[in-house]
Amino acid sequence: MKFAESSNQAAELLRQAVPIMVRHNIPPNPLNYALWYTYVSKRLPELNSELDKTLNAYGTCPMMVSEQLFRDHMLRDELESAQDMQANLIALMNDLNHQAGETARRTSDYSEVLQDSLEALSDTDADRLPLESIIQNLAANTEAISTETRLFQQRIDEARAEINALKAELTRTRQDARVDPLTGLFNRRVFDAELEQLLGTAEPPRLTSLMIDIDHFKAFNDRYGHLMGDKVLQYVGKLLKEHAKEPVLPVRFGGEEFAILMPGATLDEGAELAETLREKIQAIRIKLKKSGEVISSITASFGVTDYSPGEGVDDFIGRADAALYQAKSRGRNCVHLSD
Ligand code: GH3
Ligand code: MG
Ligand code: MG
Repeated sequence: MKFAESSNQAAELLRQAVPIMVRHNIPPNPLNYALWYTYVSKRLPELNSELDKTLNAYGTCPMMVSEQLFRDHMLRDELESAQDMQANLIALMNDLNHQAGETARRTSDYSEVLQDSLEALSDTDADRLPLESIIQNLAANTEAISTETRLFQQRIDEARAEINALKAELTRTRQDARVDPLTGLFNRRVFDAELEQLLGTAEPPRLTSLMIDIDHFKAFNDRYGHLMGDKVLQYVGKLLKEHAKEPVLPVRFGGEEFAILMPGATLDEGAELAETLREKIQAIRIKLKKSGEVISSITASFGVTDYSPGEGVDDFIGRADAALYQAKSRGRNCVHLSD
């Protein structure tokens, strides 16, 4: 990202961006700030037209869309700025190193000044230097060294800030608290946040959710082992990703449960996706290396629910869970639509 604006211009852009974000219930996180800041700057017209389209369709910008737009329109810049950051850091380290050498040299000079002053003070000769002279010399050298160490301290503070920023950046990319490490899907936190965002708009869009739970998974683990169970979860996650294109948000809800949020979709569209996934999961075949046995017993149950205007988040999730429960009690490996 290249932000060429002066401080005043940047503040003005942010003043314009924030009300738009508030009006459309867009979470105030760094990615969204960057996106909407760029929007009001009108620097990337294609990004603006995509964002306008999204606001028209959903009244807000679902997170899946924000992240996609960020990747498509802004990330190339971002990579360049990561390189800039590295170059800055190298320059800072060189500067710091030079400064440290200089400070060490001056500190050692200062130590000599202190030593000389001590000797002059303990001198008992009649012709010893007057106190005024010793104090004046000490004052001049102390002033010089304190300027020097202040400068050094300033450099260290700059380096610390820069290193902390890099550390935070690495933490963000290496261990994203929103991503489930096994499947690479987003987790329930993201699902909840997205739901809250969509339902928090003045006119919530049409919305359908799928709740998915793998059938008899405890028995599967018992029979084939936990690692094989993990492979199944990974594979189901991959299927969900393949079949859920933005703005559809698939997540690992927890354990062997998954959920999909479909902004703008009808109950029938949800049922269609559920049926496709049900068939794909049922068709999973895993050949065991040791025995040659082919596992073909993996199935999942689906509850599909569309959002009723005015309903709270908890009621909506409650009905989605109830629909899944119905699918289980109707014999599993099936799709149940909530009434
Ligand atoms: P149902 O058809 O009623 O859903 O039966 P179930 O056995 O799938 O449901 P239950 O809730 O009794 O058990 C869920 C199982 O899912 C138990 C747990 O060991 C397994 N499980 C949850 N998370 C993981 C995981 O990360 N890896 C593996 N391998 N198994 C998991
Ligand atoms: Mg379960
Ligand atoms: Mg289960």
